[in-house]
Amino acid sequence: MSTQHYDLIIIGTGAGGGTLAYRLASSGKRILVLERGQFLPQEKANWSAVEVFQKNRYATSELWEDHQGKTFSPGTHYWVGGNTKVYGGALFRLRERDFEAVQHCDGVSPAWPLQYADFKPYYDQAEQLYQVHGQRGLDPTEPSEAADYPFPPVSHEPRIQGIYDALKAKQLNPFYLPLAVKLNEANSLLSACIRCNTCDGFPCLIHAKSDADINCVRPAQTQANLTLLTEAKVTQLVTSDSGREITQVKAEVQGSPETFSADIVVVACGAINSAALLLRSANDAHPNGLANRSDQVGRNFMKHQNGAIVGITLKSNPSIFQKTIGLNDFYWGEPGFDYPMGHIQLLGKVNGEMLAMDVPRFIPKRILDAMAGRSVDWWITAEDLPESRNRVRLKGDRIVLDYTDNNVEAFDRLRSRWISVLRKINGEGRVPQSVYFSKRLPVQGVAHQVGTCRFGTDPDSSVLDLNCRTHDVDNLYVVDGSFFPSSAAVNPSLTIMANALRVGDHLLQRLG
Ligand SMILES: Cc1cc2nc3c(=O)[nH]c(=O)nc-3n(C[C@H](O)[C@H](O)[C@H](O)COP(=O)(O)OP(=O)(O)OC[C@H]3O[C@@H](n4cnc5c(N)ncnc54)[C@H](O)[C@@H]3O)c2cc1C
Repeated sequence: MSTQHYDLIIIGTGAGGGTLAYRLASSGKRILVLERGQFLPQEKANWSAVEVFQKNRYATSELWEDHQGKTFSPGTHYWVGGNTKVYGGALFRLRERDFEAVQHCDGVSPAWPLQYADFKPYYDQAEQLYQVHGQRGLDPTEPSEAADYPFPPVSHEPRIQGIYDALKAKQLNPFYLPLAVKLNEANSLLSACIRCNTCDGFPCLIHAKSDADINCVRPAQTQANLTLLTEAKVTQLVTSDSGREITQVKAEVQGSPETFSADIVVVACGAINSAALLLRSANDAHPNGLANRSDQVGRNFMKHQNGAIVGITLKSNPSIFQKTIGLNDFYWGEPGFDYPMGHIQLLGKVNGEMLAMDVPRFIPKRILDAMAGRSVDWWITAEDLPESRNRVRLKGDRIVLDYTDNNVEAFDRLRSRWISVLRKINGEGRVPQSVYFSKRLPVQGVAHQVGTCRFGTDPDSSVLDLNCRTHDVDNLYVVDGSFFPSSAAVNPSLTIMANALRVGDHLLQRLG
């Protein structure tokens, strides 16, 4: 056996791969983790809106194509920790009903083959592992059987507390956003997080955000049996002639070709890149792509209908750490619209440099700064539905995202409803005293990518079995956002993390 042979190889270190590496590290098994990115540098630019948002300093420079053949720069990040390096750390459980078939305006969101109860113990563990702060009992849609959050909620700053109180006064049910930050409000000496205005969308310069790098990969690396290779981009998975097992993992390690092998191979490259890797690895035994007998690899791609609302009012908003309210009152619909609409949460505080990206260039920076000083900024999410035609495919080596929007009416209703609620709590009569700018994210907004290798019991309609092992290849697993059969309307990471812990238990048993 060559020295390059391992018990298990994990490809990718994001919410899925990083969490799995953590779970398996203490097993004593020989584990190799291959990550195409480096450790994200700790540098002042981490907290620069110009660098992070205007110059896309930490996003990939790859170009992908949309369904019309137009190239675009995807909003995805290749680092140790994957996209969790820049995430907002809003960590939600799916609702119990999200696991069931739900009729939406545009069609049916399919049932999952497992239920909330199957994920519940792993949600509990994932919230501990990622140090989630929150308070149960305020969100009427939250699962009934949920353990208390391990840490108290992140408090609201005065302007946000005012909005929270005004929403309550309108009989709505705002709640503290569940957040994965290393914050101790009772004792600032014990707090890593300083509640700054560069969290959501930014890497954390002081490592005070609980992400897959800091909370999982670095601790896992302390185990001698686990080896992490960075700048190790996996290019192909090779099978035996029968096609039943992976025999080689081919990678470019710092630009040089290398080959590895393992008893078990786990792909965790994120929903788009995992599908792309399987498609790229087509061979005689798997002519349409690896583990693709069902022709489902890459299909059913979802990314949510996500959007932002920037509401500018007469009141100033000096909030620094703004992202503390969530609201699910319209998650399942509203009177007169008996279909799910979605989820609302505050964004990290928007500043003039971020506004500059969405307005004509002639507007001076001081005007934008003044607008940002009065804005309250929201993120809204509606579920998009899995469709066979919405798929990842390859053109040569380039990724093509064939994505046609669906369920947009849910998003549009949520947006108008929320703006009308905000006007009401602002005490506006006939004369508007606030102005709202909003946008729905285009295809490059792939932050919430899921669904491209869905799990299920039927090998004809799913790629993975219930343990996230491919139906077609015995020693191949996919453990990232790919396995989602539907996208629900809350942020996906906690479910990806919980699932990685769940599959980790299965792998520990299998490895013996
Ligand atoms: C700006 C932003 C904000 C977000 N905010 C939130 C939030 O508040 N809450 C939430 O729940 N979610 C949030 N998300 C989404 C969240 O980050 C993702 O859902 C999550 O990281 C997905 O986990 P994953 O394991 O599927 O993939 P990723 O985290 O993307 O990890 C994939 C990993 O695989 C590596 N990789 C890819 N291809 C290869 C290859 N060929 N060889 C080797 N390595 C490879 C990548 O470099 C990466 O490290 C946000 C995302 C963004 C971009």
